[in-house]
Amino acid sequence: MPNDKATEKSHSGDIVYEVNTGGTTVHARRMKGRWRNIKWLMMGLIYLPLFILPYIPWGDRPAILWDIPNRKFYFFDLTVWPQDFFILALILLFCFMLLFAMTAVAGRIFCGFVCPQTIWVDIMTWIETKVEGSPKKRIQLDNSPWNADKIIRRGGKHVLFLGVCIFTAIHVVAYFSGIWDLYAGLATFNLKAAEWISLLVIIVTCYVDTALIREQFCMWVCPYARIQGVFTDQDTQVISYDHHRGELRGRMKRGQVAEGYGDCIACNLCVVTCPTGVDIRLGQQIGCINCGICADACDSVMEKISRPKGLIRFASFHEIEENTKVHNPFLRPRPLFYAAVTLFAIIGIVYGLATKTVLDINVRHERSPQFTMMSDGSIQNMYHLDILNKTDKPADFIITITGLDGLSSNVDDKIFHLKTAQVKRFIMLARAPRKVLTQTSQPITITLQSKENPEIKDVYKSMFIGPKQ
Ligand code: SF4
Ligand code: SF4
Repeated sequence: MPNDKATEKSHSGDIVYEVNTGGTTVHARRMKGRWRNIKWLMMGLIYLPLFILPYIPWGDRPAILWDIPNRKFYFFDLTVWPQDFFILALILLFCFMLLFAMTAVAGRIFCGFVCPQTIWVDIMTWIETKVEGSPKKRIQLDNSPWNADKIIRRGGKHVLFLGVCIFTAIHVVAYFSGIWDLYAGLATFNLKAAEWISLLVIIVTCYVDTALIREQFCMWVCPYARIQGVFTDQDTQVISYDHHRGELRGRMKRGQVAEGYGDCIACNLCVVTCPTGVDIRLGQQIGCINCGICADACDSVMEKISRPKGLIRFASFHEIEENTKVHNPFLRPRPLFYAAVTLFAIIGIVYGLATKTVLDINVRHERSPQFTMMSDGSIQNMYHLDILNKTDKPADFIITITGLDGLSSNVDDKIFHLKTAQVKRFIMLARAPRKVLTQTSQPITITLQSKENPEIKDVYKSMFIGPKQ
């Protein structure tokens, strides 16, 4: 039960629970229903692949790998280099905008159905139910003196909690080390210091958060919980108690007709099943993660007393208070704005991936002096070049400059041997006959090209500067 402390009585005489702010352990009753099933489905769709993906090989490496020492991120055939990190920045922007759009439409559904914190807490409470029994038995165990049964149940539960956290930590670190290398390192106690520290930090964080402080993390630590109010408005669909329909509350025996009362029979099932100890009948509260479990609980009650479901349901403030409903919760300024930014991020990601090259050339024109008049009458420009080999093997490269007749440079016949991920910096001196310079600034093209495969190249557009005509 979320709270054993009844603080006041409502006008209808039933118990009103105060919001649990950490003083009491929440022992919520597990409830089957539509929203619970959706939660399991989301768990399967989002988190199962995350635990399977580290086992998928791709050539001689895992399909997905953050190679921190070599500053690369592998995603199947795609290799993202530090130079391409704007793509990752856009992916982050996409994720945040999607989160904001979800919040504008349906409040904290991310918390209720997607957030790893609440999903791991759900797994922990499932284990707790299996090991220690129903909420009533767990409360009895809490209050009982330490004996063999309590030690075995409590100890067993915490061993399983730790097992979940160790399993989680291994699969997170696997994205950085490779799962099989990690298992081999664990079996021989031969991991790098960073790997030991990462495992330890994740295990401790997972255990303290999901096994010990649980819903209090959402209330006191999570920044999203504190700012999500900014993204919602009175048309946002949130879990709501329809008090017009529910009040006055009154207890009802089977077969009885509660004259003068609303549909709420004050059974408190919505409260005792809430994983965060909230009584949603008191209105929206910071503890509510929009998981819908209380709606499942109440629907089961409504079914039993032959009343329509939905006394507790996803509904907007306007819908409950003014009986006005937006026809499409997506077609409102807020979600549309977030959707537009999300679209911008998608376009940026697609463009970034489509134009991604396996070579990189960066050119900076020397500004002082912008050009030099040579003794033979030609004009010389100086360029600072950075070239990078982003292919997976060492190779030879050449540089060509085009755009003006008679254009030549000090790197014309030079071959640059670059190992994979190697960057080379050098100065390129380009010369052009004065007579071809018809303007003070003319475009040129600098091309970095593989000697072996000319199809592999990167091109940079720059300017050649000359004296006034
Ligand atoms: S589960 Fe439904 S009927 Fe029971 S107390 Fe909650 S709102 Fe009222
Ligand atoms: S009040 Fe309902 S929706 Fe909110 S956290 Fe509790 S069970 Fe979930």
